[in-house]
Amino acid sequence: MAEALIRLLGVTKTYTQPDGYDILVLDDITLEIRPGEFVALLGPSGSGKSTLLRIVTGLVPPSYGVVLYRGRPVVGPNPHAAMVFQSFALYPWLTVQENVELGLVAKGVPASVRRARTRRLIELIGLSGYEDALPKELSGGMRQRVGFARALAVEPELLCMDEPFSALDVLTAENLRSELLDLWRAARIPTRAVLMVTHGIEEAVYMADRIVVLSKNPARIVADLSVRLPHPRNRRAPEFLALVDSVYKIMTGPEEEPAPEEAVATTPEGAPRLEPLPSGHLSMLTGLLELVADRGGRDDLYRLGSELLLEVDDLLPVTEVAELFHLARVEEGDLILTGRGQAFCEADGATRKAMIREELVQLPIFRLILRVLQSKANHSMVKEFFNDILEEHFSVEEAEAQLRTAIYWGRYADLFHYDPETETLYLPRASADAAPGAD
Ligand code: ADP
Ligand code: MG
Repeated sequence: MAEALIRLLGVTKTYTQPDGYDILVLDDITLEIRPGEFVALLGPSGSGKSTLLRIVTGLVPPSYGVVLYRGRPVVGPNPHAAMVFQSFALYPWLTVQENVELGLVAKGVPASVRRARTRRLIELIGLSGYEDALPKELSGGMRQRVGFARALAVEPELLCMDEPFSALDVLTAENLRSELLDLWRAARIPTRAVLMVTHGIEEAVYMADRIVVLSKNPARIVADLSVRLPHPRNRRAPEFLALVDSVYKIMTGPEEEPAPEEAVATTPEGAPRLEPLPSGHLSMLTGLLELVADRGGRDDLYRLGSELLLEVDDLLPVTEVAELFHLARVEEGDLILTGRGQAFCEADGATRKAMIREELVQLPIFRLILRVLQSKANHSMVKEFFNDILEEHFSVEEAEAQLRTAIYWGRYADLFHYDPETETLYLPRASADAAPGAD
């Protein structure tokens, strides 16, 4: 077997929050990529895919573990790897030609070689005639072509791509995918291996020879599959759909039971951990449940997602909400309504709100908010106060997102109100009058 290009051994990454609490993002990742492989790294958003890619390219170091490139430790940016970003990341004041040449300038390649190589690449990637254009004169698809050309200009052995097609419209993305595959498969680029981060299952099955699936909170490798379908792949072929379905099952599979010490994880101050709320929208929850009810109470998540035009990334948080509220459960890639879920679908709007209210008052974040509001004489409290508490449990970004979700859900269920003018949460009259401490 060929020597691995990149080897990650027990790579772990934690980020330390301002309050000293460490968030574990990547947990003990061991992975090898060999010449000839096109590997897709698949995982829900926020799972740590970009972090892993930055570690592979040497842009950030791991907290623990070893990164080897051709057997040598990676220290600092890996000169044999290049990265294509989702957001194009072009310099607006440089022309197409200058943007593509940039990596070569940094490498000290002489001007004449630079020009020739860049011209060739610009032609290869379909941008001839645009050498002197500025990024703002280009469409999104053309900008991403520049992004590819810039990464390829340094002739990287390992081409890393971070959701490179996700900012493009459907048609442009599909064109670029097949063009890139053609270049790679016909060996018209000197790249030896490709590592592509994506949250799209179909994209992974369409392009990659191997799919590595990450879990979330923290990211661990939960599957490593080879894809042996011949190219060009037909998205409607039964084998294609079967593979998409089985990856769906893996991604929606039961979470591992947390180890005992994680289950009682505490902040450094010893306060109990707040369980994060899933980010799914309640409006989508109702739509999803009604669709399943129409199907007799059980249906394939993959089919539900494609009918609701939801990527797995948008669908999973909604199924998590359904499970959290005991309205449905996920089994073998199917979503199954519970008795309560059935009742929810048959209920009127007011009853649905009441059912969600019953669930919310069981959740630590809502218990906390209600306790505070009930203990205050005016039954109100500024949002900032809760933000500060949540920041002891989550990253600043995540605390903000958690509070946004909590406020949205609380308002939906009439558990409390929120005044965006004063950024204040307050209890509705009826529950403010109820005996405090009814918790
Ligand atoms: P993905 O690419 O899968 O969406 P990321 O690798 O971007 O995930 O992020 C994984 C987690 O790590 C997120 O919770 C994110 O907030 C956190 N994170 C990423 N970069 C940093 C950083 N520089 N500091 C603190 N937290 C970070
Ligand atoms: Mg990312």
